[in-house]
Amino acid sequence: MSTFTESEERQELRKQVAKLASSFGREYFTEKARAGEKTTDLWLAIGKAGYLGINIPEEYGGGGGGIGDIAAVCEELAAQGCPLLLMVVSPAICGTVIAKYGTEAQKQKWLPGICDGTGTMAFAITEPDAGTNTHNITTTARKDGDGWVLNGRKIWISGVDEADNVLVVARTEDAKTGKLKPVLMVVPTDAPGFEYNPIPMEIVSPESQFQVFMDDVRLPADALVGDENGGLAQLFAGLNPERIMAAAFSLGLARFALDKAVAYAKQREVFNGPIGGHQAIAHPLAQSHIEIEVARLMNQKAAALYDAGDEFAAGEAANMAKYAAAEAACDAVDRAVQTHGGFGASQEYGVAGLLVATRVGRIAPVSREMILNFVSMHSLGLPKSY
Ligand SMILES: Cc1cc2nc3c(=O)[nH]c(=O)nc-3n(C[C@H](O)[C@H](O)[C@H](O)COP(=O)(O)OP(=O)(O)OC[C@H]3O[C@@H](n4cnc5c(N)ncnc54)[C@H](O)[C@@H]3O)c2cc1C
Repeated sequence: MSTFTESEERQELRKQVAKLASSFGREYFTEKARAGEKTTDLWLAIGKAGYLGINIPEEYGGGGGGIGDIAAVCEELAAQGCPLLLMVVSPAICGTVIAKYGTEAQKQKWLPGICDGTGTMAFAITEPDAGTNTHNITTTARKDGDGWVLNGRKIWISGVDEADNVLVVARTEDAKTGKLKPVLMVVPTDAPGFEYNPIPMEIVSPESQFQVFMDDVRLPADALVGDENGGLAQLFAGLNPERIMAAAFSLGLARFALDKAVAYAKQREVFNGPIGGHQAIAHPLAQSHIEIEVARLMNQKAAALYDAGDEFAAGEAANMAKYAAAEAACDAVDRAVQTHGGFGASQEYGVAGLLVATRVGRIAPVSREMILNFVSMHSLGLPKSY
């Protein structure tokens, strides 16, 4: 049996998710986005069907699968025109970190809601001053009696308005050395001192980004996930899943755009026969098909390595997959716009509305430059450049 195809179970999962997503469809998604409404009913439907927590252990309401499964769900949703960014953060980052490092009580408390969609969790690491250089974050958790007091600012945090909690990356001060160490804190979005403002974005999506302000936010002792001295390993546990999910998100959008372009190229006639008969239209679409398939294969490799427990190899593959997927998506959408001529810019055909969403794939959650830095250094052995 070939090892280069996904299991029958995974292929069936893709089919079922595509079916559910297509019953909502792109129009539903864009109508909600343009009306400033949320796609909560889709979110709850995928939760109810067991897809939202498919990567979470069964004893906490999940499906007991891996990152490859949740990435397949994310990709198929996007491929039907319903990209859900919060899948990247709630089940894949927060779910993974809590399942791996949470206490039994913390898992019981937070994972079932992540799985059924009633207890969505956002993830906040990015800060205005630190930016890409997350080693410079300054959000600080100070011990206060039995609990903690949190102070700091975050930016670009997705879905805070749809989340009950945010997994915040902060730092504690080492009592002996005074050095700051990274820690993960679950912060309720209705905690006193926790405030958030939406950032107006040019992305056509019901999901929004926020600035977050934490001003003496008091937290109980059990807000801390993992060991206070656990260091970067606990934080990094969520980062490979994040990259694999971001790649899946881009690849789904790329497939959606390419499908639309191919359908239009077959049907639109201007000179002799359909425009898809001109190589100037056909070849860029064929190129996109190749680029998407190559990136999908790399992402499946990254997920397989991750699910087999090889975090180190998964790191390199996830970075490469995320890079290739973002590039494939930007190019696929650009070509889809071109194929549609004037309709490429119309709301009716909806391809131009994907331009910013796919373009963001080159910036977040890790930029293409930082991936090239990683590959230069770790894969090629070149000197560190940052
Ligand atoms: C739609 C969206 C959703 C997001 N959701 C979340 C979220 O839910 N949670 C969260 O924590 N964050 C989130 N982010 C933040 C995202 O992870 C950051 O925007 C991203 O990491 C880049 O950081 P920055 O915006 O500060 O860019 P900067 O760090 O200011 O970088 C600006 C540019 O300089 C380049 N650059 C910087 N340093 C180097 C270097 N050493 N070498 C080469 N190039 C360099 C970068 O690649 C980038 O192109 C989101 C962002 C967006 C746009």
